[in-house]
Amino acid sequence: MSTATPLPSTSAGRHAIVYGGSTAGLSAAGVLSRHFERVTLVERDRFENAPHPRKGAPQASHVHGLLTRGMNVLCEVFPGFQEDLKAAGSIFMDMTGDFAWCMGGLWRPRIQSGIYFYSQSRLLLEWVLRQRLHALPNVRVLDGREVTGFLTSADKARVTGVQLQAPGGGQEESLEAELVVDASGRGSRTPQWLEALGYPRVEETHIHVDVVYASRLFRAPPGFSADWKMMNIAPEFPRERQGAVIQQIENGHLLVSIAGWLGTQPPLDDAGYVEFTRSLSQPHIHEVLEHAEPLGPINVFRFSHNQRRHYERMPRFPEGLAPVGDAFCSFNPIYGQGMTTGALQAQALGGCVRQGLGGLSQRYRQQVGQLLAVPWSMATSGDLRFPEVEGKRPPAFGLTSWYGDRFQQLASHDEEALRTFVRVMHMLESPAALFSPRLILKTLTSRPTAADLERKPEPPFAPAAAREQAA
Ligand SMILES: Cc1cc2nc3c(=O)[nH]c(=O)nc-3n(C[C@H](O)[C@H](O)[C@H](O)COP(=O)(O)OP(=O)(O)OC[C@H]3O[C@@H](n4cnc5c(N)ncnc54)[C@H](O)[C@@H]3O)c2cc1C
Repeated sequence: MSTATPLPSTSAGRHAIVYGGSTAGLSAAGVLSRHFERVTLVERDRFENAPHPRKGAPQASHVHGLLTRGMNVLCEVFPGFQEDLKAAGSIFMDMTGDFAWCMGGLWRPRIQSGIYFYSQSRLLLEWVLRQRLHALPNVRVLDGREVTGFLTSADKARVTGVQLQAPGGGQEESLEAELVVDASGRGSRTPQWLEALGYPRVEETHIHVDVVYASRLFRAPPGFSADWKMMNIAPEFPRERQGAVIQQIENGHLLVSIAGWLGTQPPLDDAGYVEFTRSLSQPHIHEVLEHAEPLGPINVFRFSHNQRRHYERMPRFPEGLAPVGDAFCSFNPIYGQGMTTGALQAQALGGCVRQGLGGLSQRYRQQVGQLLAVPWSMATSGDLRFPEVEGKRPPAFGLTSWYGDRFQQLASHDEEALRTFVRVMHMLESPAALFSPRLILKTLTSRPTAADLERKPEPPFAPAAAREQAA
């Protein structure tokens, strides 16, 4: 456990409640512990003191990458968090040097980008985060308890706490607080509960993509010695509708997620799963899986639609309530933005609390509305490339999509373009950086060389002799 000293605190109030103990809730509780005398984190599941799967976070058995911006925020909230992850077995990697990344049939250059990434299971990430929260003296964790409704002031203008129950029934309890944070995920019942209190129904934007993830854990095969720590065989939108990621994670394990869009369903049987990887545009993941030992079942997650709740547009909203994470906005997971935007929302909430509790919910909703604009447009502009995906295309969508394709080709051989793209993807820079005059010129004029077209990862196995020895 890291001993780094947290940032100085300011006292804004006596008690805050966060309900939902997944990554957004843990981030928010960490932030609020600096500003409230006491924070209570309520989670429906029972937490185990180990990185084990739990019912309330079924996505945790699928590949999860925490973008560098998100990591930076979590390290501010929990100083030394990266060191804790490393100590727990996370694999440290350079986002281009150690990442074999194929897009549109072209493998990107393996340069050092200086953008670092930690590769581990989502189970490990959440467990390390939870340990950091448990170590805070003013945070109480109430697991095995479900929030079933809000307590309010008589005029219903303020949320003053929550009602709790053990899942499935039992004695109801009331818990009062000056701030209630809903981190209960995309199935959050805040829209219904607010409506029952007489507030208008929050507007929602849905963009349907029907993405199916099928993920499995493997033991690395004998002799496995890849020159990458993570590999992504990404689809070329909108022509291809399937892709796969393989990731080296803790304990010498390999985690594989394959994804299909809009009706392309990865097979869920043992042989079909491995065979499916043969149908990808590149053979490399298939070559590994042919020899790797499966360590568990194939886990499936069906993600129907991007979902944005426009709380920022509500003309009336109670004081004392703030939704964070997927409860506010949930993105197509392939863009890897969920945990980072949850952490950014928690950070924004901390900033609003510092300005005082009066008018907090209004300030916070406006800030999050603005903060979500870029990640939402990055995620949905990919999804809207598919002609059958319904949704309003922004002005000049055809032109920006064309430029985006050309830029991806440039990033397959131009180091400046690749570094810029990675910085934008990790939310370290605005997407405007992709449109600098130099990059526009290169995008329009530069072409890959024969060497660029031939670039590919080394075979993932040591020569036969070394393999026999390892076996
Ligand atoms: C297949 C898949 C892959 C993904 N990959 C990535 C990735 O690579 N990178 C990334 O950043 N994001 C990824 N995401 C998104 C990411 O998982 C979420 O954005 C992230 O977990 C934040 O979610 P959350 O904490 O808001 O909600 P959730 O993770 O949904 O957690 C909600 C929590 O609230 C609890 N809860 C619910 N109701 C109540 C209640 N009434 N009372 C008490 N507790 C309650 C639940 O038990 C649960 O613990 C992926 C998602 C999926 C589905």
